Amino acid sequence: MSTSSGSSRKPVTLITGGAGFLGSHLGDRLLSEGHQVVAIDNLLTGSLDNIAHHAGNPDFRFIEHDVTRFIEFEGEVDFIFHFASPASPFDYLELPIQTLKVGSLGTHNALGLARAKGATFLLASTSEVYGDPLVHPQREDYWGNVNPIGPRGVYDEAKRFAEAITMAYHRTHGVDTKIVRIFNTYGPRMRLRDGRVVPAFIGQALEGKSLTVFGDGSQTRSFCYVSDLVDGIYRLSLSDCHDPVNIGNPREMTILEFAERIRDLIPGTPGILHEPLPVDDPKVRQPNISKAREVLGWEPKVAFEEGIVATIEYFRKKCSP
Ligand code: UDP
Repeated sequence: MSTSSGSSRKPVTLITGGAGFLGSHLGDRLLSEGHQVVAIDNLLTGSLDNIAHHAGNPDFRFIEHDVTRFIEFEGEVDFIFHFASPASPFDYLELPIQTLKVGSLGTHNALGLARAKGATFLLASTSEVYGDPLVHPQREDYWGNVNPIGPRGVYDEAKRFAEAITMAYHRTHGVDTKIVRIFNTYGPRMRLRDGRVVPAFIGQALEGKSLTVFGDGSQTRSFCYVSDLVDGIYRLSLSDCHDPVNIGNPREMTILEFAERIRDLIPGTPGILHEPLPVDDPKVRQPNISKAREVLGWEPKVAFEEGIVATIEYFRKKCSP
């Protein structure tokens, strides 16, 4: 990148939540694109294991910090990717106040830093802004159906606030902002016990336990492999699109179908056990990705059959003694 002095230097990129599942994969991609990466994380749900492979890399730094507190950083910054937040329903139900704080105070601090440094800011938003959607598949111009006072509201409303303040910083202060609405994503580095359906079912199957399908399993999700998601986010960061963009894989399946796939792929899985459906669990979810196709020239490349095998392999290695 050219600096004002005309010399050439690597772009400096801060990733809040840089030791998390998505933040760490994003860091890998940005390093490979020639960035200097600073991962900021309070390790509440992130893990140093996710970034251990960068030890000794002069282009990578880790700062342990809670971004709900003022973020101090000396020197130039070109990009800030704001990915810090508990992100699984299990985590944000355990950490409701931290989830609200990181989506509000944390986003405010990260935007303030972007403004001070003249950096491009990219917010990790979520398909949860659509709540239990009444429009299917979900397009970016759908405003959503969220219960603000339900248990999931802590995440949904935090992210909706984060989108609102991001647009306010763009309109009021001219900050170069982007918003990605991330749909269900899976792959290596998910936490085995973060409660999300992908690690939950794979972990249960590998331990020879029954798969816990919540409700009758007719609710749907659409699963995107992590490398596809990161590619969409990288493209968005370089685009001049300031409105939210859905990134996800439109291949939709019921949770029961997903359980059956895992049972078939991991021999010895005893069966399926139905448990109560969590409050406000969305009944359907599928991204409309027309905008990502048009604006970013992006679409997912990794087939479910391929991505899920790679993810099972990752957990198999993690679980083996
Ligand atoms: N789910 C399930 N069993 C589990 C974990 C999740 O049936 O052990 C269901 C959950 O109720 C939801 C879907 O799987 O309908 C996806 O849940 P997840 O927590 O992965 O993410 P969400 O899409 O709800 O944010």
